[in-house]
Amino acid sequence: MTTEFDLVVVGAGSGGVRAARMAASHGASVAIIEERFFGGTCVNVGCVPKKLFSYGSHFPQEFALAEDYGYTVKGWEFDWPTLRDNKSREISRLNGIYQRILNQAGVTIFEGHGQVLGGGKVAVGDTVLTARHILVAVGGKPFVPELPGREHVRISDDLFYLDTLPRRVAVVGGGYIATEFAGILHGLGCEVTQIYRGDLFLRGFDQDIREFIAEQMKEQGVTLKFNADVASIEAINSEKQVTYQSGEQAVFDEVFYATGRIPNLDDLFAEGAAPAMTEGSAIKVDEGFATSVDGLYALGDVIDRVQLTPVALAEGMWLAAQLYGEHKPEAAMDYHNIATAVFSHPNIGTVGLTEEQALARVPAVRVYKSAFRPMRYTLGDKQERSLIKLIVDDATDKVLGLHMAGEDSAEITQGFAVAIKMGATKADFDATVGIHPTAAEELVTLRQGVRVTA
Ligand code: NDP
Repeated sequence: MTTEFDLVVVGAGSGGVRAARMAASHGASVAIIEERFFGGTCVNVGCVPKKLFSYGSHFPQEFALAEDYGYTVKGWEFDWPTLRDNKSREISRLNGIYQRILNQAGVTIFEGHGQVLGGGKVAVGDTVLTARHILVAVGGKPFVPELPGREHVRISDDLFYLDTLPRRVAVVGGGYIATEFAGILHGLGCEVTQIYRGDLFLRGFDQDIREFIAEQMKEQGVTLKFNADVASIEAINSEKQVTYQSGEQAVFDEVFYATGRIPNLDDLFAEGAAPAMTEGSAIKVDEGFATSVDGLYALGDVIDRVQLTPVALAEGMWLAAQLYGEHKPEAAMDYHNIATAVFSHPNIGTVGLTEEQALARVPAVRVYKSAFRPMRYTLGDKQERSLIKLIVDDATDKVLGLHMAGEDSAEITQGFAVAIKMGATKADFDATVGIHPTAAEELVTLRQGVRVTA
């Protein structure tokens, strides 16, 4: 078997697989090294199983809603192992697909831990591969702060394989993962307390959306404990006793930490082979994903840009085209107006600037906002609402940001992201005829600005 390649990719996650496949399609000889699972975090312990669990966790409210439509839903029960194992079967299928895609693209797969040796060499077990270009796309891993009792906490990876579903759960953190997990676990029937160190979770999202989600989650029965820092955790029999910095205590069956993710650099570089790092211990790269070491590149969650699968995919494609493509990219990768979603309950969809960010860039913004009860819920007493918000540059009429919280927000935002990426104005939104009756039509029928802020 050959050990010389044009490109060796370390890590078969979203970014690595895409870069490898695309490089091979441009005619490069490519090897990829993976030590854990094909498809990386997203497929195995991230986006995909999370979304399946999110679907699963909505059924109880659907059963309740069905009654408003005349159905009698009798005696339903939830079996956690069925959901967990069906999910795992689907993930195994996807792992196989990833491997097949790589094989079909002509990429040589090496299973094991890859270590960059320097001088264009990468070791995997006893084998040493050489390549003109090496790409590190090993992703990230959960970060849990140091604290007494740290060994008693669980991380996001664990949720996907729990033997039993705990009754009382604490979720520590106020970002994407913690908020999604709080919604999922609550939906599946756990008593959930989300613990966040600041005033209001989802820092970086639009303020109105953050407040709205907090209200909706409280309405559903999730306990939100803000301005709370965990000082220590003690295991007492099968329970976990959390002591807050305030001295207050609470008991849970499980404590999940979702306090960010850090680059996965364990044993990745042999001595002297590591490139320059950022202050946050990510691999430092330039606009073309080149590290400080000649021929060594990095992308995805191991660099300090945007930790999202579609971003890693785009970075992988960009780099493959840059290194081997007939047509090189005309510009650096564009990180503006990346749409994103939080699969909280309810979902958040967002693209562009928040009101706060927009005001830092333009002199005045017009804000359009509407909160409404989705039609689906109007036959009963379910109080879930949706909120939409447009941020418009007052001088140019350009829509700078779109934010939505509520049912189908993620799906709706994806379509509108195209318009915003193209520079649509509020007048373009107004000239678009809505589809009735939908929630999405609200975004093209916002006539009255609620305020102009400067
Ligand atoms: P985030 O960076 O989104 O959030 C981390 C949270 O943990 C913040 O609320 C932060 O608080 C808090 N935190 C950090 N350090 C501490 C500490 N020492 N003690 C207490 N709290 C702390 O990370 P996640 O783990 O939620 O997700 C990682 C990344 O994965 C996300 O940034 C996102 O890019 C990606 N992701 C995307 C998803 C999607 O697209 N739907 C889903 C899941 C993940 P503070 O705000 O005060 O800093």
